[in-house]
Amino acid sequence: MDQRDGWIWFDGELKPWKDAKVHVLTHGLHYASCVFEGQRAYGGEVFKLREHTDRLIASARDLDFTIPYSADQIDEACRQVLAANELTDAYMRPVAWRGSETISVPARENTVHLAIATWVWPSYFSTEEKLKGIRLMWAKWKRPSPETIPCKAKAAGLYMICTLSKHAAMDAGYADALMLDYRGLVAEATGANVFFVKGNEIHTPTPDCFLDGITRRTLIGLAKANGYTVIERHIKPDELGQFEECFLTGTAAEVTPVSEIGDYRFTPAKACRTLIDAYAEAVQPKRAAAE
Ligand code: PMP
Repeated sequence: MDQRDGWIWFDGELKPWKDAKVHVLTHGLHYASCVFEGQRAYGGEVFKLREHTDRLIASARDLDFTIPYSADQIDEACRQVLAANELTDAYMRPVAWRGSETISVPARENTVHLAIATWVWPSYFSTEEKLKGIRLMWAKWKRPSPETIPCKAKAAGLYMICTLSKHAAMDAGYADALMLDYRGLVAEATGANVFFVKGNEIHTPTPDCFLDGITRRTLIGLAKANGYTVIERHIKPDELGQFEECFLTGTAAEVTPVSEIGDYRFTPAKACRTLIDAYAEAVQPKRAAAE
């Protein structure tokens, strides 16, 4: 990943991709003082850019540091790096971290850095292919309580259990893992939120200890606009047998139907198809009618 051509926005300037490096004594690397975003550009515009930028700034604040750029400056930097790489449809990764001036737990004096990379990460599957659904395994790791960690932040440290769970799932032949929370309630997949369909109702876990995804919120709006009743509530794992369809949502995953979670089976059908199409339509930039 570090040997590509292209440009990375790094602390206010565009650097050649291969030169965008940090020191080994970086606080963010040792103590996880690091937050990031994942966002996608469609047709040259980043979908819900300001929401992603606001979440990045809020995540840093949750980790007790301040990104030294305004939301306007960060938005502009995202557009700049997309243009410099001559990309219109791409994934983008802004990342902010504490630097290397001191290497001990306290780090208030360390410089806060911001970098933004972008690369092509298409959704390779057609709607028909997606509708086969992916297989999920239950994760052994649980999402921690809000009293244990700032669980609303999109923070590097929270991804340790995601990587472990995803590796375990892949080793066992599954596409991903579904994590429970510290109370044993259904939480989320390793990089996406989860929804369940029962007739005209769509149920999704209340995001009180995991990321309230921007795609998740978009999907709730789209589901309501398509006539579904959306219910956010605590969902116990043994309730999954009552649902007919299941899907994941996330910036990278977009809307991904699920066919299997442990012993439960789902058949992606009308709701998945409707919402895949509605999301694909929603992410396209809205050009003025006169254009
Ligand atoms: N949960 C986790 C753990 C994630 O990494 C992501 C992807 N950012 C999501 C949920 C979905 O969030 P969003 O829709 O904002 O991409």
